Amino acid sequence: MARRKLAAGNWKMNGTSAMLAEIDTLARDHADARCEILICPPATLIARMAERAGPIAVGGQDCHAADSGAHTGDISAGMLRDAGASHVILGHSERRADHGEDDATVRAKAQAALSAGLVAIVCVGETLEQREGGETLDVISGQLAGSLPDDATGAAIVVAYEPVWAIGTGKVPTLEQIGEVHAHIRAALTDRFGPEGEAMRLLYGGSVKSANAGDIFAVADVDGALVGGASLKAEDFGGIVAAL
Ligand code: PGA
Repeated sequence: MARRKLAAGNWKMNGTSAMLAEIDTLARDHADARCEILICPPATLIARMAERAGPIAVGGQDCHAADSGAHTGDISAGMLRDAGASHVILGHSERRADHGEDDATVRAKAQAALSAGLVAIVCVGETLEQREGGETLDVISGQLAGSLPDDATGAAIVVAYEPVWAIGTGKVPTLEQIGEVHAHIRAALTDRFGPEGEAMRLLYGGSVKSANAGDIFAVADVDGALVGGASLKAEDFGGIVAAL
């Protein structure tokens, strides 16, 4: 089954108005890209970025599980959609660690994203301690089982495998390790969701840059990347897009 490749950038808590020029460059240089390109800026930039993003999709980095209400500081999936977002990253390890988000929280948020018509990029990944303890595949299985809603579809859910120890560290798993986990995730998804699980895209994330992107994208069941640091500059991200 042909899954369209996805190059997703996660700006995290980086970027003010001055950085909107990066989206102009991306839109200009990659108008004909074969893959789908997505930038998830801080919420403050979503609406303005969406207005000038052209073929580049714009997404949020989190949403609340509720539609509206007394949740100071939070943003609903519907609000992201209203601002021009088409995707949302959920369950990133920084949110799991910094905001105590567990699998049930991520699942509820994913449900809200699907209801609002957003594509949810659900992140899973083991810590270094878990990898060294030989628990990686079990941890991933548990996160997938707990974080994905039962009505997940190939069109609406993307899974990102992001080993916590590889994020922002310059450390990357071996291609064999990436391949092992992606095959494991694919098997778990097809087991639970059948053809819809086969259609879900699987991204690798953690210290992806243009120098290692080609090798990583050649691994079976890697359908693209979720990129942090190297997505902040159009030139760097463009090198990753070109490798897809
Ligand atoms: P990194 O971040 O590319 O800076 O390692 C990846 C991520 O957290 O999505």
